[in-house]
Amino acid sequence: MIWRRTASRSIDLDVAQPFRAAARAGLKACATVAALTLIAPTMFGQTSPPETILVNGHVITVDTRFAIAEAVAIGGGKFTAVGTNADIRKLADAKTQTIDLHGATVVPGLADDHLHDAGGGPGVDLSAARSLADVVAAIGARVKASRPGDIVVSNSDWHEAQLNEHRLPYRRDLDAVSPDNPVVLVRGGHEYILNSAALAKWKIAKDTPQPSGGRITRDAQGELNGELIDRAKSLVQLPPPPPLTIDALVAQHKKLNAAGLTSIRYPGASVEQYHLLQQMEQRGLLTIRVNQLLRFGADNAAAMREAIAASHLKPDDGDEWLRIGGMKLAVDGGFEGGWMREPYAEPWGEHGTFFGVNTMKAAAYTDVVKELNRLGWRVATHAVGDAAIDEVLAAYEAANAERSIRGKRWTIEHGFIPQPDQFPRMKALDLVISAQDHLYLAGPSLVNYWGAARAARTTPMRTYLDQGFVVAGGTDSAVVPYPPLWVFYHFVSRDTISGGVMGGDQKISRKEALQVETINNAYLTFEERIKGSIEPGKLADLVVLPEDILTCPEKQIEQMPVSMTMVGGRIVYRRP
Ligand SMILES: [Zn+2]
Repeated sequence: MIWRRTASRSIDLDVAQPFRAAARAGLKACATVAALTLIAPTMFGQTSPPETILVNGHVITVDTRFAIAEAVAIGGGKFTAVGTNADIRKLADAKTQTIDLHGATVVPGLADDHLHDAGGGPGVDLSAARSLADVVAAIGARVKASRPGDIVVSNSDWHEAQLNEHRLPYRRDLDAVSPDNPVVLVRGGHEYILNSAALAKWKIAKDTPQPSGGRITRDAQGELNGELIDRAKSLVQLPPPPPLTIDALVAQHKKLNAAGLTSIRYPGASVEQYHLLQQMEQRGLLTIRVNQLLRFGADNAAAMREAIAASHLKPDDGDEWLRIGGMKLAVDGGFEGGWMREPYAEPWGEHGTFFGVNTMKAAAYTDVVKELNRLGWRVATHAVGDAAIDEVLAAYEAANAERSIRGKRWTIEHGFIPQPDQFPRMKALDLVISAQDHLYLAGPSLVNYWGAARAARTTPMRTYLDQGFVVAGGTDSAVVPYPPLWVFYHFVSRDTISGGVMGGDQKISRKEALQVETINNAYLTFEERIKGSIEPGKLADLVVLPEDILTCPEKQIEQMPVSMTMVGGRIVYRRP
């Protein structure tokens, strides 16, 4: 790509510069956004010359006809025109910045429907571990650098499927390098693994009762292996993580921009986090559009009502940069605790008795769901297994009987194992499916937990689309790494990191995958009229890719670098 600028027009392309408030307010530009202070208000009108044009591209618009264009014009943060090179060049004047794409591909900005954070953190980093030896060595090194009694904790962004052995490190593996310091491996959002010193510290023993909504796992000899699932994690009190800061969020958003993300949905975060994001918006520091679901952990209607009142937040508060999207609930575990109609595969099934973990019982859950519907809140529920989906559908139906939820785009988050009898009920409630690429990371582990047949059906994208659902896509980062092109690659290939192709009959087309990651995500958050495709009048969010993602060799998608990312017509990432 060549970046050409006319001499009379200089836009600061440094993404570290605050630009957001200026771009939105137009005239209220601050001194650091010098270029924008020159723009008269009429520049934001439809007839003014564009601020930026991108020409000589292969622009996959993802409009309803999937039209391909050569060039786009951008002004006031929006696409003002889409068409041929000649059409678009005609609109430019001396002040217009021209970006020559030299044949590169442009797609609408990519979105993630379920992203907790970008991973990393102050704990031991296991994301690069590829064997149990790597895990143990990393933990051992941190133990050596610690004082007696210090608790050693890992970051959560790793999974045993990335290890050659395809199994978790257990208590005895950790004891070998840490006989005295308590060690807690945090893995994803549902699991801790403790060494013996940690089990002793929190007084967890063979006679500790199984907590409701959780599980203390044992090995084949009946001994504790150190694994605590879902609500069993509450037996452990970890040192509080460092407080989330604006600087940390800015750094995370930069990483996401570099992967091509322009919109994310936080699937259950705190009021405090929302306030930080509001400050970022006010200071012009947001480089990604955020839809945030709230998560209160209230397990009855009264507690939920009080938590909402205390938050002073309302459904759909916000604007196109930051908006409240609804309320997150959860009824089952994850990979190792998804609640199933049929027992887990052996030995996980414990002789046909283990069906997963039901983290919120039907009565309490239904009570909360009905209350949220009465209060006008959209509900998004984490449900992995088919039994969990049964519980969700029953509660949504009860709420719907009081006051229709159709057209309100309530969701099932994840929906790994839906059953044919559930599709008509999901359709009757007009649900949107919030799907992710967990299988890509965890495929071999899911075979262990659920058997090959259920693992291969996990997140049946083809079936969902054939049933006529709107399916939005994402990752569940940091449970699964955040690159959106990995999601795209997995959905079109059903390939996995370490287990080969699984459930090949659930492949979707590349066009469908692109919709899943763009316009369908916009639909999920009621924004399909303002973003998700490259059309005049829509927000100028786009990604430039070096190859045509619709026709290049399939394997190339997985490692394809992002050349440039724009949000609201501003470059937030450019490949060095
Ligand atoms: Zn999640």
